[in-house]
Formats: sequence, C-alpha cells, structure tokens
Amino acid sequence: MHFGLDDGQNKLRARACEVARTAMAPKAAHWDRTEEYPYENVATLAEHGFMGMVIPEAYGGQGSPMIDPVLVIEEMAKACGITARIVVDSNLGVVGAICKYGTDEQKRRFLPMVVKGDKPAIVISEPQAGTAATEMKTTAVLDGGHYILNGHKKWITGAGVSHVNLVFAKIIRNGREEGIGGLIVEKGTAGFRIGDRAYMMGLRGIPESEEIFENCRVPKENLLTIGFGRLMSAYNAQRVGAGTVALGLAQGAFDLAVEYAKERQQFGRPIAEFQGLQWILADAKIRLEAARLLLHRAAVQLDPGTGFPDPHYAAMAKTYAAEIAIQVTNDALQIFGAAGYSRALPLERMARDARMFTIGGGTTQAQRNVIAAGIFGRKFSQRRGGG
Ligand code: FAD
Repeated sequence: MHFGLDDGQNKLRARACEVARTAMAPKAAHWDRTEEYPYENVATLAEHGFMGMVIPEAYGGQGSPMIDPVLVIEEMAKACGITARIVVDSNLGVVGAICKYGTDEQKRRFLPMVVKGDKPAIVISEPQAGTAATEMKTTAVLDGGHYILNGHKKWITGAGVSHVNLVFAKIIRNGREEGIGGLIVEKGTAGFRIGDRAYMMGLRGIPESEEIFENCRVPKENLLTIGFGRLMSAYNAQRVGAGTVALGLAQGAFDLAVEYAKERQQFGRPIAEFQGLQWILADAKIRLEAARLLLHRAAVQLDPGTGFPDPHYAAMAKTYAAEIAIQVTNDALQIFGAAGYSRALPLERMARDARMFTIGGGTTQAQRNVIAAGIFGRKFSQRRGGG
C-alpha cells in the first residue's frame, strides 16, 4: 500500500499550483462579480495541457490517468472554483463517456475540440425530474437518418457556452421506447436553443441555464449509447471531480486562515495562539486529509467492470468532500472575523462556491441512497438518483 504521489504527479501538482496562483487567482473575484465565462482561463488551461488530459493521444490528449486531472482540479479550486469546474468537465463525465462508448468518428469529431478549449455540458435534469432523473420527459424519436429531439432541460452548467452537449433522452425507435440514451448535440443545431439563465449563489462565472429542444434533428451518428446505467457509470468520474473542487475550495480557505491566524494580533498576541482557534483548524485539517484520501482512492481504484470509479466510493468521496467543504470554508471565514465576511477577501466567495456540491451532481441524499444500496444490495435499494 502506497499513499504518496510519485515524482511526475508532484511536478504536475506544482505546475498546476503555479498556474492557479499566477493566472487564475488574480481574476477569480472578477468572474464572480461579472458572472462572465472565463474564456481567458480556458485558453490558459488549454495552453498548459489541462483540458482533456485523459483523452487518448490519438485524439489530441495525453492519455493521462484520472488521478492527474484530479490533482489539477484541487489546485485550480484553491484559487478559482469555476476554473476547477472547467477542468472537471473537460476531463471527466462527458469526456469519459465519449472515450468509452464513442465510435472512432465521434471521438475524432468531438474530443480534439475539448483539448482546444470546449467544456462539454452534461444535460440530464429537467424541471420535474431532478433526483428522479429517469422520470425525464425528453424524447428522441428515430426518423430516418436523424433523431427528433424534444424536451426541456434545466440547470445545465455551461449551456450556451459548451459546443458538445451530451443530452439524455428516452430513445424511441420503431415506436418502441428503448431506454435512456445520450445524444451529442452540437451548439447551433437547428431546434436547439438556450432558455433562461438561473443566477446562482456561487460558482457564478459559468451559466446554469435551460436547454430547449424543439423538433431538433440530430444525426443518428450522434447517438453515444443507450443505457442509463452505462451513462451514469461515466458520471461517477464527474462526481469525484466535483468533490475535488469542493476539497480545493476548502483547502484554499484553510491555507488563508492559517496564514491570517499567525499574523492577526488580539490581546497582544497572534490569534493562532488561542487554543479555541487551533482546534477549529485541527478539525479542518483532519477533514481535508480524510476527504482527499477518499477522493484519491475513488480516482485510482477504478471499477474493473466499467473502467470508471466504483459508484459507492465515488458517492462516499463526493458526499464527504461536499459536506466538509461547507464546514471548512465557513470555519476559515470565522477565523478572519469581519474581514472574512467582507467581499474584499475571497473567503465569502469560497463559502458560497462550496455550498453547491451537496446539490449539483447528485444531492448528498441521493448519494447516501447509492451508498446504502452498496450496504444492503439491490433488494433494499431505492430508485437510482440522477444528475
Ligand atoms: P430534487 O430532486 O427536487 O430534490 C429536492 C430535495 O429532495 C433534495 O434535498 C433531495 O436530496 C431530496 N430528495 C429527492 N429524492 C430523494 C430521495 N429518494 N431520498 C432522499 N431525499 C431525496 N443538472 C444537469 O443535468 N446538468 C448540469 O450541468 C447541472 N449542473 C448543475 C449545477 C448547479 C450549480 C446545480 C445547483 C445543479 C445542477 N444540475 C445539473 C442539477 C442537479 O443535478 C440537480 O439539482 C440535482 O440532481 C437535484 O435535483 P433537484 O434540484 O431537482 O432537487
């Protein structure tokens, strides 16, 4: 058993840390304030080879193991949560699904554009179908050489920005429903439009908007696969990525709090000398280490059947990281007193950003259902949760 990173991984992490510190941290507050998509950060990520790292070399990537983007994601999140989410989406989830289930033609068309800077979108949730994703109403009816796609999707991260949209829909062929499949729908396809944007509490530089499909004709060659379970197995990787963003936000806030505690003086001494604060930071340290171990295990010990993270380990890692991130970012903010609550410092942004991860990517309740299914088996399990 070996818990350390190897030389190459340490160098990758150090490089990502430097890019995050110099290129991402200075403008993180700007993207939060303006809610603009950080195209310049994406260009920097692509320049440094952080977009589509896991994509095989034949399609423009580096064929990196999943742990590599996980290391990069944590470093980016310490500086800028939305940039970290772009690294997640360009390496895990949709990208993993295309790598695993895609035809050579699909890989050739869609993967190189991710390496160059497209952040794919995963398009599952609907107004009436959140956790109960399988209750989706979107349909894709085969009509000659096309699927006719109709449906209304909601909360889609990157809607309007992403060129590659992996849209989940009920596939109907010859009048028969064949299960939920994933169709790759390109931005600009006739019948595909972006609806209202939801303005969110945190992670504000990436739009969360509706995607609306009205008799949208998608070439039948764009069907990735049929099978909700197959699609969701790829999504387990995205969950590990999302948990890692939460971890990075928490680690970033913790690092700032430790430095501040050493400098800030009250009652004639650094506040770091107060045991009450030392214990807050000691507890935070335990939580951060435990979250990282869970996430790295989920990223390294892949399910041999699917090649993606084991769903139970992914669910445990995401749940724990999401919950401790809320606590650790808030504890770090507390160490700063009024300064932490002020918008002059990044603590309040980090706390707002961290709040998302118990909801998006499958709520912590849905994740606990997955974990419970691992304990009790299928006989006692509830319906599977979605996005
Ligand atoms: P609901 O499913 O209505 O749940 C409401 C509450 O009931 C929650 O607390 C939930 O945990 C609980 N609950 C529901 N069912 C159960 C159960 N069986 N047992 C116990 N408790 C239960 N979706 C996408 O498809 N693509 C995206 O890119 C995307 N990005 C997102 C980004 C953000 C910032 C957010 C916040 C959401 C995003 N989502 C996306 C949607 C996300 O996947 C859903 O919000 C999530 O699946 C929960 O669905 P819901 O919000 O409709 O809540």
